[in-house]
Amino acid sequence: MTLNTHPALPAFEYIRPATLAEASNFLSLHPDTARPFLGGTDVFVRMRDGFMTPEFLVDVKNLDGTNELRFDPEAGLTIGAAVNMNRVAASPDVQVHYPLLAEACRSVASYQLRTRATIAGNICNASPAGDTIGACLVFGGALHIHGAAGSREEPLSTFFQGPGKTTLRPGDIVTAIHLPLPPKDCAGKYMKLGRNQLSDLSIVGVSALAYKDSTCSSGYRFRLALASVAPVPLMATEVEAYLANNPITLDAIHEAARLAMEACSPIDDVRGSARYRKQMVRNLSIKALTEVWKKLG
Ligand SMILES: Cc1cc2nc3c(=O)[nH]c(=O)nc-3n(C[C@H](O)[C@H](O)[C@H](O)COP(=O)(O)OP(=O)(O)OC[C@H]3O[C@@H](n4cnc5c(N)ncnc54)[C@H](O)[C@@H]3O)c2cc1C
Repeated sequence: MTLNTHPALPAFEYIRPATLAEASNFLSLHPDTARPFLGGTDVFVRMRDGFMTPEFLVDVKNLDGTNELRFDPEAGLTIGAAVNMNRVAASPDVQVHYPLLAEACRSVASYQLRTRATIAGNICNASPAGDTIGACLVFGGALHIHGAAGSREEPLSTFFQGPGKTTLRPGDIVTAIHLPLPPKDCAGKYMKLGRNQLSDLSIVGVSALAYKDSTCSSGYRFRLALASVAPVPLMATEVEAYLANNPITLDAIHEAARLAMEACSPIDDVRGSARYRKQMVRNLSIKALTEVWKKLG
């Protein structure tokens, strides 16, 4: 038996459409054989490893507006699909208004990889381990999508259908991610547990956001998203409800973290067992919730 230690990319045709309409049209005409790509950091690895063999790769990096990163003090942040993670993390607007997103971007692999990798690609890849997805979820993000039938906006909360599965249809191209204005004086924290500190997918990822909210009986709202512990990136809504309705104490945070652990349904894999993941969800949730609580003062 020969072991192929240097697998190569299978042959494919590179398509560079001039407009979004052209790209959508091509993708909808070749639903089983064409694939859009941005940084290619997921696509090329999956092709090299034989999990994906598209005949056509459609480059959607340079299409109308997909390179823009825009902050509007009323509308919030719009991140063009082709904007790479280093650009997001270095943006003064992101650092001031969405530091949790910058933190999540910086947790992904290495600086070199992040010059290619995009948040849109991270989202469309729909891995439950995607590090930037939790921040987009807790900020209440939505996707701008250009499809064969025109443009639409879709909330991220209903976008994920399973590992690698989303609501995208043939011809759909995500053009931007939109995050509304963050709640006033909110505090965020991303905690990632990987096998090493440098460049690994998360065994568990916890994104926490907290802010004062007079509509909750506790006076505070905590939003928690969990990575790598369910078939989809998970919003732990039980945590939000519990902490909205109970006075915030250390005991309440411990109970909320236990609820987060109960909400997840992880698998055993090479990076960690299901049991370990559950324990780590509880431990990291305690840390993340305590940290954002302290930041709120
Ligand atoms: C060495 C290495 C380390 C990594 N480490 C991490 C890590 O620590 N954390 C992490 O979360 N990820 C990690 N990844 C995974 C990867 O880098 C990220 O998921 C990245 O964000 C993908 O972005 P991209 O632009 O490269 O996507 P691409 O590879 O271009 O595309 C990803 C998927 O999205 C689809 N797609 C792309 N663009 C669009 C579009 N506009 N509309 C609709 N569908 C689209 C593609 O068809 C594909 O299925 C790592 C990858 C490598 C190779």
